[in-house]
Amino acid sequence: MRELVVLGTASQAPTRQRNHNGYVLRWDDEVILFDPGEGTQRQLLHTGVTATDLTRICVTHFHGDHCLGLPGTIQRLSLDRVPHPVAVHFPAGGAEYFARLRHATSFHETAELVVEPIEADGQRITVRGGTLEARRLRHSIETYGYRLVEPDGCRMLPERLSAYGIAGPAVGELLRVGHLDLAGRRVTRDEVSVTRPGQRFAFVMDTALCDAVYALAEDADLLVIESTFLESETALAAEAGHLTAAQAARVATESGVRKLVLTHFSQRYSDLRRFADEARRHFAGDLVIAEDLTTVPVPPRRVASAG
Ligand SMILES: [Zn+2]
Repeated sequence: MRELVVLGTASQAPTRQRNHNGYVLRWDDEVILFDPGEGTQRQLLHTGVTATDLTRICVTHFHGDHCLGLPGTIQRLSLDRVPHPVAVHFPAGGAEYFARLRHATSFHETAELVVEPIEADGQRITVRGGTLEARRLRHSIETYGYRLVEPDGCRMLPERLSAYGIAGPAVGELLRVGHLDLAGRRVTRDEVSVTRPGQRFAFVMDTALCDAVYALAEDADLLVIESTFLESETALAAEAGHLTAAQAARVATESGVRKLVLTHFSQRYSDLRRFADEARRHFAGDLVIAEDLTTVPVPPRRVASAG
C-alpha cells in the first residue's frame, strides 16, 4: 500500500481546522513520519496509524511547526514498546535541537532510535523500497527536502517465456545475464519482459524557490509541497523563504509531477479555495489542497513500457 496520510496542514500557527504539520507516507513496509508538529500523537490516533507502524522519521528543519511533536512521538515509541529500530533524519546543524527534543522530559526509554543526520546536500539513504535523497533548500535555517525514488524494475511476461520454451532456472539466468542462447537463437531479456517504472515521492517544505525544489520534484508521482502564501504575497513569501501556490504549481508542471499536494498554509487565509484556483491556473494534473486527517493515494504506477 502506498499513500500519504495528512496529519496537519498549518504553518506558523494552528487554526481550528488545521493542526501543525505532520505527514505519514506509507510505502509498503516503509512508513515514514515527516515533520511531526505539535499534536502529532493525537492526530495519528485519529488516522489509525500507530507508533509501531513507523519505521522512520524525517525532519526538514528545526522550526517549531515541523518538530515540536518529536518529544511526544519519540516517547510514544518507548511507551508502545516498538520492537524495531526507528531511523531518524534531520539537518546535522540542528543536532543540538534534536538532542533537546529527544530528551525534553524524563521518560523510560526502551525504543531504539537510529540517528542518521543529513550532513550534506544530495545525501542518499537506502530504505525499504527505494532510495531516500535529501536536498538543501533555501530557508532562514538549515533545511532539507526529501525525495524517495524506487528503481525501475523488470516484469517477465509469462506468455513470451513459454513461447520460447524458457522455464525454471533458465529464467533466472536470462534475468541475470540479460540474454539466453537457445538452439540457434539468442533471446534477450527485453524480448520477454517489460520495464516496471519505479515510483517517486517528493516532500518539499519551507523554502524560497531554488534549484533544489526542482531537483526534488523531478518526475514525482506525488509531490507534497508547501504553499504558505498566495501570489498576491509573492514578495513577502520570498522574504520569509516560502513559496506561493502559483510557484508550487509551476514547479509541478515544469517537473512533470502527476499529483500535487499543497499544504503548510498561512493562518492569514480562511478560504483555501483561493489556493486551488491559483494552482489550477498553472497545473493541469491531479491537485489536492491538503486537509487534516485525510489520505491521499500515491497514483497508480505509470504504464509499463515494452522492453
Ligand atoms: Zn513551517
